[in-house]
Amino acid sequence: MAEIGRSIVKMDVDKLIDLLNKALADEWLAYYQYWIGAKVVKGPMKDAVTSELQLHATEELTHAVLLADRIIQLGGIPVLSPDEWSKITNCGYDAPSDPYVEVILDQNIKGEQCAIRTYSKLLDVTHEADPVTYNIVLQIITDEVEHEEDLAALKEDLEMMLIKRK
Ligand code: FE
Ligand code: FE
Ligand code: MG
Repeated sequence: MAEIGRSIVKMDVDKLIDLLNKALADEWLAYYQYWIGAKVVKGPMKDAVTSELQLHATEELTHAVLLADRIIQLGGIPVLSPDEWSKITNCGYDAPSDPYVEVILDQNIKGEQCAIRTYSKLLDVTHEADPVTYNIVLQIITDEVEHEEDLAALKEDLEMMLIKRK
């Protein structure tokens, strides 16, 4: 364990580890929601949407790596069982039971908005207390903001395509 690294954190480290584990559960659920969404999605612009969902899946996995590594640095244990994910998640999981592109885009936009709110709170909590975690969360939230924008842009393209022009 990084003893001095841990000692410079000016907040309850166990509380911080809990928050990071909740975010880690979110990332795994987001990963799978994107990964399975990319497999089942149907409808107009399917190929463009599939590529974006696949890319986002890999980026959520990168976030999981960053969070797990930080938890370990802080002397914590990253959540060990998938059973725990749905119990500690902030943002939950939306199964893509309706494969229509627009429905899947809406589900994932909702997920990104929750992720942005969650990481925004983590930025507030760590801002003064733990610059190392703050920096990691800043990297992650930058991706989540981009994810929301990418999905919103795809939805806009889809809507414009479906409007009957005079
Ligand atoms: Fe993420
Ligand atoms: Fe994301
Ligand atoms: Mg993207």
